[in-house]
Amino acid sequence: MYTRRDTQQISVGKVLVGGSAPITVQSMTTTKTADVEGTLQQIYALAAAGCDIVRCTCNEQEAAEGLAQIVPRSPIPIIADIHHQYKMALAAMEAGVHGLRLNPGNIRKPEHIKAVASEARDRNLPIRIGVNGGSLDPSLYEKHGGLTAEAMVESALQEIHYFHEVDFDLIKISVKASNVPLMVDAYRLLADTVKYPLHLGVTEAGPPPAGLVKATAGIATLLLEGIGDTIRYSLTADPVEEARAGRQLLEALGLRERKNVDLIACPSCGRAEIDVIDVANRAMKAFEDKKLPLQIAVMGCVVNGPGEAREADLGIAAGNKRGHLFVKGRNVAVVPEREMVDALVEWAEFINEHGTDAAIARADTKLAEREAARDRSQLLDEKGDDANNAESKIVEIRKTVSD
Ligand code: SF4
Repeated sequence: MYTRRDTQQISVGKVLVGGSAPITVQSMTTTKTADVEGTLQQIYALAAAGCDIVRCTCNEQEAAEGLAQIVPRSPIPIIADIHHQYKMALAAMEAGVHGLRLNPGNIRKPEHIKAVASEARDRNLPIRIGVNGGSLDPSLYEKHGGLTAEAMVESALQEIHYFHEVDFDLIKISVKASNVPLMVDAYRLLADTVKYPLHLGVTEAGPPPAGLVKATAGIATLLLEGIGDTIRYSLTADPVEEARAGRQLLEALGLRERKNVDLIACPSCGRAEIDVIDVANRAMKAFEDKKLPLQIAVMGCVVNGPGEAREADLGIAAGNKRGHLFVKGRNVAVVPEREMVDALVEWAEFINEHGTDAAIARADTKLAEREAARDRSQLLDEKGDDANNAESKIVEIRKTVSD
C-alpha cells in the first residue's frame, strides 16, 4: 500500500520506536504525578486500552518524587514531560524515567538544553523534541512571518543542533499543530529533512467527536504516506479514549495486529427490523473488554445483512423478531431478538477458541438457512424489493417535508 519511511530506531524502555518496529500508541496521564496510586491506576487502564508508552508531567519536585515510585511499578515505559524547568528534566532522569519530552519553545537557554542532553546521553535515555505550534519560540514566529511548517521544523533543527554539540543522538521529534493541514505539511517537511523517528499528533484536537476526526485526519494521512513511528491522540477526554482511538486507528489501517473486536454495523434504513444503533452499541459494550481479534457484524435486516457482511467472521441480522447468526456468510443459528447480543458473545468466544470452520461444523446450517430464507422471503413479500418505497415511508417523508 505504501512504503514506511526508514528511520533511526531508539528504545523507550523495552519499547522500540522507529526503524521496522511496530508503530506505537502513546497517551498522557491527567492525574497529579505526585499522586502515585491515582497515576498508576490510570497507567494500568491506559495499558489495558492499548497504550504502549505513557507520559506524565514532571513540573515540580513532588512530581519527580512521585515518578521515582511510579516507574518501577508501571507496566509500560514512562516519559517525563518537561516544559519550562530544565532542572525537572534532571530530576526526572534521576527518578528513573525511560525518556523525556522537551518543548524547545519553553526551554531556550543552550546551556540548559545541553545539560539535559548530556545527562540523557550518559544514561542512554531518548528525548523527544516536542515542538508545539502554540508555544513556538517568538523569534522563529517573527522570522517566518507567523506559524508555518518551516518555522516548526526550524525549531526542531535548532534543538537537534544543540544535542549534536554534546554528542547526543537518541532523538524522536514531533511538530504538532491544532491546524490539520499545517501539521501535515510540517511533518512532511520534517520527514524529508531528518532520519529520526517521528511522533505524530494533532495538538489540542478537542473533545470527541470533532477531536477524533481532526486527529485521525492528520495522523492517518501521514501514516498512509509511510510517515510516523508513534502516535498520540490529544483529546479533551479520558486518556483511555485516546489510547483506544490510537490502537483502533492502527488496527484499522492494518499497521498493528488486531487484538480487539472490529465491530461493523449497517447504518440502518427503512428496511431495518431492529434498532440497529441500540444493538450495535450494546454489542460494542459487551465486547469492549474482551480481547477477541474478530470482525463482527450487526445488520438491521436478514434481507441484505448476511450478504453485505459475508466477509465478517461472525454476524447477526434481524428478521421477524429473530436474530439470524451467520459465520463467514453461512447461516448457523436463529435466536430470539432479545438474545442477539448474548448469542454474538457466545459464538465469538467459541470462534476465538476453535475457529470459524469448527463453528460452522457445530451448527445445523441447513435448518438455519431454511429459517433465514423463510424470513427473508416473508419480509420481501411484505415490504417489497425497496423498503424505502413502502407506502408508509412515503407518507412519513411527505409529512417531514411539509412540516
Ligand atoms: S438493507 Fe438491511 S442491512 Fe442494509 S442498511 Fe438497511 S437494514 Fe441495514
